[in-house]
This record gives sequence, C-alpha cells and structure tokens, in this order.
Amino acid sequence: MDTHTPAPSPKSSRGRRGRQQNHRERRRVEMELELEAMRKHDFSWHPCRVSLRSSGVGLIVEYGTNDTDDCIVTKEEALSRLRIRSTPLHGDECSLLREGDRVLATRKSPPKSLFFDAQVEKPLRVRHSKKIHCRCMFVVRWIHHGREGETATIPSSAIMKMSAECITLHPTIVAFFSSLTTPNHCTISPLPTVLKGMDYERDVLQLEKQIEDISNAADSSGIKVSENLIDGDVLPYVVTSLYI
Ligand SMILES: [Zn+2]
Repeated sequence: MDTHTPAPSPKSSRGRRGRQQNHRERRRVEMELELEAMRKHDFSWHPCRVSLRSSGVGLIVEYGTNDTDDCIVTKEEALSRLRIRSTPLHGDECSLLREGDRVLATRKSPPKSLFFDAQVEKPLRVRHSKKIHCRCMFVVRWIHHGREGETATIPSSAIMKMSAECITLHPTIVAFFSSLTTPNHCTISPLPTVLKGMDYERDVLQLEKQIEDISNAADSSGIKVSENLIDGDVLPYVVTSLYI
C-alpha cells in the first residue's frame, strides 16, 4: 500500500482551509502596504502604511522614509489624501494611456525625484521592438497645486498607472470610518448648565413683573405676549410674538 498517496480526508480539507486562511492573511498584509498618501506641504505622493491611533481617534500615516508620520482625523481628508497605490506600466500598458488620462508622474525636484498628479496631454508613441521594449514618451500637464498648467515630456518609465480600486475596501480604512460613526459615550446633561443653581422663585417673580410691564406696553404698541410664558412652559425672558 502506498502510504504517500494523500487520501481525501478531513485532513486535506483542513489543509485547504489553512491555505485559504494563509492567502487571506497574505492579502491583508499586502493591502496594508497598498496605499499611497499625499504629503500636505508639497502635494507629492508616497507609498505608506496606515494604522489606527491608540486613542481611537485618527489614522496614523507612516511614509516609510525619513518623513515624520502624519495623522488624518476626518473621512474627507482620508478620501482626498489616501488612495490605493499606483503601479508602474507593465508590458504594453503604455498603449492604453490616452489623452486626458490622469496619472502619477515623476518630476525631478532636487534633491530627489518625487511623484505628482498629472494629466496626459499627448502620447508620443514609438513602435515597440524586442531590443528596446518601450521608448514611448508622454507630454503631461501637472495638475497638483503650485505647478498647475506646466507641462513636461517624460518617458513611460516615469509614469505610474492609478488604481481604479477605492480605499473604502481597505481593512484599516474601514475600521477608521466605522470609528468615526460610532457615537461617543460622554453624557451631556439635558439641561443647559446655565440653569444650574437658578433661584426659580425669585426669577418667576421677576418674570411675572416683566410680563406685566410688557403687557401694559403691548396694549398700546400692538405686541402680544405669549400666554405660555405666564404658565412657565417656556424658557424665561424669551418669547413674544407680533400681534397682527
Ligand atoms: Zn511604449
């Protein structure tokens, strides 16, 4: 009997489940690294890792370089400054870029090149050969703040393709957004604190005096005092209505 032949047993299905779990875990770790963030001070984009702040309020953005970590505290900021990481062009993907497409492109800004948002103005296609795969060039127009309208001619290797995926599927982003919608548990007194310690008896007497004065004045001026005020159903010193 061949003892090495795997029998179709619960053990093999456990193995399959294990592989699926491993795949999901690998996918989760990959997704953790699949984001890019826009730096606030120069609008350049960088691969990043995000995590929830220990206080539970906010998202920490680690750039993985010497840059200091960043913090995002609102959903709007997360949606405008984070996205799924852009990828280099592979194979013949340069041929898919059309005029008007939005891309992430390298701009030499000493001391190092940085990536900024740009729009393809004009593809300058060169027939691909086996020897030199892609010599295509692209005229791009920068669309990030500070350089809007300026153009540059760059090789396809300086262009990254933006992802069509939305960050709202990213597990940490999902957790961050749900933390924003969770009601916070601090309790608020139903009464305004200004009412605390109020001397009601004195205030009611004062109020009745004011109402009497106003009523007397209203007889001649056409202003009617709300009767609810006299019963004390509304906040003191507040309501009068125009008499028509
Ligand atoms: Zn090409």
